[in-house]
Amino acid sequence: MTTKRFLILTAGCLLAFGGREGSVSAQTAGEPMSKTCRVTRAREVEIQKIEPFKVFDNLYHVGPCYVAVWLLTTPQGHILFDSAQEPFVDKVIENIRKVGVNPRDIKYILINHGHLDHAGGAARLQALTGARVAAVAEDWTMIEALDGKVGNRDSKPNVVPKRDMVVKEGDKLDLGDQHLTLHTAPGHTPGVMFVEGITLKDGPATYKGVWGGGGAGAPGLAGAQQGVVNANRVVAVKGVQVYLQTHAWQEPDGYPGGGIHERAKLLATRKPGDPHPFVDPATWDARAKRQLETAQNVLAEEKQKAAK
Ligand SMILES: [Zn+2]
Repeated sequence: MTTKRFLILTAGCLLAFGGREGSVSAQTAGEPMSKTCRVTRAREVEIQKIEPFKVFDNLYHVGPCYVAVWLLTTPQGHILFDSAQEPFVDKVIENIRKVGVNPRDIKYILINHGHLDHAGGAARLQALTGARVAAVAEDWTMIEALDGKVGNRDSKPNVVPKRDMVVKEGDKLDLGDQHLTLHTAPGHTPGVMFVEGITLKDGPATYKGVWGGGGAGAPGLAGAQQGVVNANRVVAVKGVQVYLQTHAWQEPDGYPGGGIHERAKLLATRKPGDPHPFVDPATWDARAKRQLETAQNVLAEEKQKAAK
């Protein structure tokens, strides 16, 4: 088990960070890999096709470099967070198989929001896995509107999943040993989901994880009010130890402590007794606090504008 885990990590990180294969050259000198694939060279297709890596005993990163697809495993079936987009879906499927998971054992696919980079792979993954696909109603409407339009990273028309599970604020999702609470945080799109209650295992230790949760409200007074509601929902989630980002990098600094691939690199060389680089409660707390302060400031500005 330990050996297998080590091999997966090593293989993933060699490929992503300077090993034998072609994606070695993907890294731009002097810059974190997460920034290269998410910002600097985001439009380059080949550098995105990275190998999977194990992050916790029950969590794998199987997504392309710039937008994360997380695979959470349970003895009763698995949950996929986000679906990436074409032309990366073949690689996501290959990665799922590489970490030893049968795609047919995936029971749920959660879509963070209705933009193509998160939802674009959902139709093929829905067909392949037979999983239930879940998104917020307003995001389902956005996803359906993508149907047949030409994708922004290839020239083929988009295929969209069939509207399946419609997520509402506070919905619960139980599978195996996972007891998730699904939240909405409208703004970036009119839906937007984030998820609390993810239990991550690292040997005898377990950690509390959150997926997503970023995002201000939409422009204008109503959007600013919603932004404060969103931030309060995020702040209300207590005891978060692991933040599962939807993207590898968030400007300006990735997410303090490193983007996904910098943390993965640390994980690959972690020695027994070293802290787990994805376990970072202080940074999450600071981030949640900052989100609330920013949302309150934006609301104050919008109120001032409205009063003029
Ligand atoms: Zn988006």
